[in-house]
Amino acid sequence: MTAPAVSVLTIEHLDFQPTCDARDGKKACEAPSDFSVTVHGHVLAYKNGTQVKEGDMTCHFCSDHLAAFNEFARKRLPSRCRGCTRVFTRLSDIILHVVAL
Ligand SMILES: [Zn+2]
Ligand SMILES: [Zn+2]
Repeated sequence: MTAPAVSVLTIEHLDFQPTCDARDGKKACEAPSDFSVTVHGHVLAYKNGTQVKEGDMTCHFCSDHLAAFNEFARKRLPSRCRGCTRVFTRLSDIILHVVAL
């Protein structure tokens, strides 16, 4: 019996699946991530004391934690970013992009 080569290639193509970045308290979620999520955030760069550089961060979440993060962010609206003091009134200003893995 010969396995069809195409299915092997398909499986190998999907082998990049980082685990979920979420944490419950100190315990990291060990579920494989289902989504790559780009959120408003800051890459901290300290220069002469304090300086914050705006940038977008990419996180990986399992579907449960993406739902939890959505809910968490939505409940806090409007919210002020501590990095740039921008005020966000829409969820789509905070969660910029979601890609299913
Ligand atoms: Zn998770
Ligand atoms: Zn900000």
